[in-house]
Formats: sequence, C-alpha cells, structure tokens
Amino acid sequence: MSYPGGVGAGRVLVLSKEGRPLMPCHPARARELLGRGRAVVSRHMPFTIRLKDRTHADSAVDGVQLRIDPGSKGTGLSLTDEKKEPGQHGTIVTVRRGLFSVELRHRGGEIHTRMRQRAGYRHRRRSANRRYRAPRSHNRTNPPGWLPPSLRHRVDTILSMVDRLRRHAPVTEIHLESNGFDTLSMSAGETLEGSVHEQGGLVGTTTRARLRTLWQNACAYCDVTDVPLNIEHVVPRSRGGSDRVSNLVLSCVPCNKAKGAAPVETFLAHRPDRLAKIFQQVRAPLRDAAAMNTTRLQLTGALNALGLPVLLWTGADTHRQRTAMGLAKTHTLDALCVGALEHASGDAIVRLPAHAMVAKAVGRGSYARTTPDRFGFPRLRRGRTKQHFGYVTGDLVRACVPVGKWAGSWTGRVSVRARGQHSLATSVGRFSVSHACLRLLQRADGYAYAARREPVPPMPRKTT
Ligand SMILES: [Zn+2]
Repeated sequence: MSYPGGVGAGRVLVLSKEGRPLMPCHPARARELLGRGRAVVSRHMPFTIRLKDRTHADSAVDGVQLRIDPGSKGTGLSLTDEKKEPGQHGTIVTVRRGLFSVELRHRGGEIHTRMRQRAGYRHRRRSANRRYRAPRSHNRTNPPGWLPPSLRHRVDTILSMVDRLRRHAPVTEIHLESNGFDTLSMSAGETLEGSVHEQGGLVGTTTRARLRTLWQNACAYCDVTDVPLNIEHVVPRSRGGSDRVSNLVLSCVPCNKAKGAAPVETFLAHRPDRLAKIFQQVRAPLRDAAAMNTTRLQLTGALNALGLPVLLWTGADTHRQRTAMGLAKTHTLDALCVGALEHASGDAIVRLPAHAMVAKAVGRGSYARTTPDRFGFPRLRRGRTKQHFGYVTGDLVRACVPVGKWAGSWTGRVSVRARGQHSLATSVGRFSVSHACLRLLQRADGYAYAARREPVPPMPRKTT
C-alpha cells in the first residue's frame, strides 16, 4: 500500500446545489470547478464552494469525523476521513486522513477582565453618591447549569464552531477528548504516594506530565535540564504544604536537597525575581484545569444533544497517538490524534493539513454608549449606529486601492470609521481606505480569521 500524501493543503469544503454538505475536495479541484463556472464561492472562511449542477442525491457522501481537543485558551477541531483499507499482510488497517483543521482561540480571560472592570465601575457609582438603600434579598442563587460568562463562552464558541462545520461538511461522528484533570486527587490534598500506588501510576504520571510542560522540563530553581527532576513542594510538607499542583514544582536533586525543609521565601531570599516567577506560575495550573473540569460535562452534554454519536477519549489516548506519529503539540494536531488507532497493527494517520485556520473569538463590539476612562467616567460618546457606508467592524472585505503607497488588491478585516475612510487590517499591515474601494466578502461573525502553518515533520511511514 502506498500513501499518496504526507502533508498537503487543507481541503475545500463543498456544498451541493441545494446547500447540503458534500465531501470536501482538493483545492486544485475547487479551482477547476470555479474556473469552469460549475461552482460558486459560498463562504470565504472556512473556504466553501457550492456546486451549481450537483444535488446531494447525485453524490456519494461517505461522511467525515469531527475530532475535538478542548483547551482552556484554545480548542482544536479537525475534520478527518477514516477508512478501512487492506494492509500489507492481507490485514485490514485503519487509515486516517486529516482534511481540515481549525484552531479556535477563546477569550475567556478577556471576558473575565471586562466583567471585573464593569463590576468596579458599578461599585464606584454605587458608593460615589452614598445614600441608604435597604438590603436586597440575600437568597439569590444561580439557576442549575449556570456557568460564569468566561466559561460559558468556551462551551458556546465550541458549539457554534461545531455547528458551522456541520453545516459545511458531512459530519457523521464526533470524537471528543474529555479529560477529568487530576485536580480531584490533587486538590483533595491526598498524599502523592497514596494516590500513585492506589491508582496505578496514572495520577502520578499525569501530575508529572503537567509539571513537565509547565516548567519546560527544567529545575524551577536553577533551570538545569537533562538531569533527574524531583517533584518538589514549594511549601514543604513538614510546614503544612499540600500536594496540590499549585504547591508543586520540578527541581533537580541538588536544589531539592539544598532547599530541604526551608520555606521557599528563605531559600530564595536573595533571588526575589525567581521567587515571584515561581509564585506566579504555581497558581496557573489549577485555574486552567478547573476551567476544563467545570465545562467538560456541559460540553459533552451539549454535543450529545446534537444527535450525532459522540465518542469520548482521554488525553492519554491522544498523547499516545501523537507520540506514535511523531507530531508536535498543537491544538489542531492533538485534535487530529483524538480517537483510537492501533499503530502496532498498521493503523496510521497518513495525511495532515499543512495549514490550520485560526478563528479568534473577538466578539461583536460593545453596546456601551460611552467609552469610559480608567476610573469609569464617561470620556467619549459613541454613535448609535455600528454600520457606516454599508460596512460594520469585522467584515471581511477585498479592497482595490487605485493609487498611493498601498495601491493594489488587499483582503482583510475592516474597522469602520463614521467618515467612511475605514481602516483595513491585512497580513502585512493596517491602512486607511475609502469605503468606495471595498467589496464585501463575508459579514462579521464575531471571529477574526487567519491561517497558521502546522509544525509538521516529514511524514513518518509506518507502512509502505
Ligand atoms: Zn536545580
């Protein structure tokens, strides 16, 4: 068996005449169809064409799988085509081809910041003109299933991207990486030794793996690498330090010994920078893991409600696939690796998209009527309309600039100005352009799109 392609262009999504999804096609095929006038561009991001002469009933649609690797800051989604093919010894092997990858970047952190900022403004306004107000009922609760807006956003954006991909590709199965992060054992303050022994090493290895990523495989105190690293308690056990991830760092044996049972403040008394860095970093992991744990069940439930089969996989499965295929760690490559493959019996991922579409959640602007200064006082009045000369901020446009430094044809995201001299962001820079030079390609939908090259090695050949 010979595999046609290691790394190739991402597939173009295809719709039938009546707008139902067909199997994605190669970009060269799409160019040919467009050139002959047999297809029209239906959407630019993700690039989708609609065939003018083919109905869904006329076409063979095998279906594709959607694989999702959710993360706290970004989520990878990958459309794949998995088939059984005859292997080299007359056996049947599973062959997976990556068709299209999306990296979805969430903005939970920004939402969190803005909600806090708004709370601050309101707090100031309440206390600025102090007068007596009768206390409101304290018996206010959140409805069941309520999530804070920063986390709700994560579930919502993943669902909206899944929905969009379903409308443009014939998704028949969803494979979801669903990890309960080990905050359960870690936060409970169980002893490391106990959980490692009782739960077969998985808890320990997951902790160690997380710490390795967090501290880049180096000693947290002296940055030495390529030596045996111990799991070190920032606040020593003997001083009441817990086994939570937020109390653990990696440390080389000499540093570990030198620190002994001393408090970290004493040990790093002459290196305040290092101390600050450690304090900052040890707080991070639980917040991300907690965000994942909080949204995990809601995401699974919401995907189940779509009516497609949803298969759940662990991060360890993904890690095993990714290692076996020798792939770098990105959300999109992780998504491609979600789900079972038996590499020992010849199963393999044989094709990777060379690029991933990056969809960054940027929102749809603000509905506030004033721009406040940093104390919350209104500084600027905003106009009531968001649309100027037919465009709103975030529209994807093509600009044909006749003269000047930016003469030529440009594609990018527009930021509108009331005077009609809009600002266009392209891959090489931002410039001002008249609305008269613009042509609308796609309406703003709350995302900023870009393409990113996948860090893919030469394709490992498991079978030839
Ligand atoms: Zn060290």
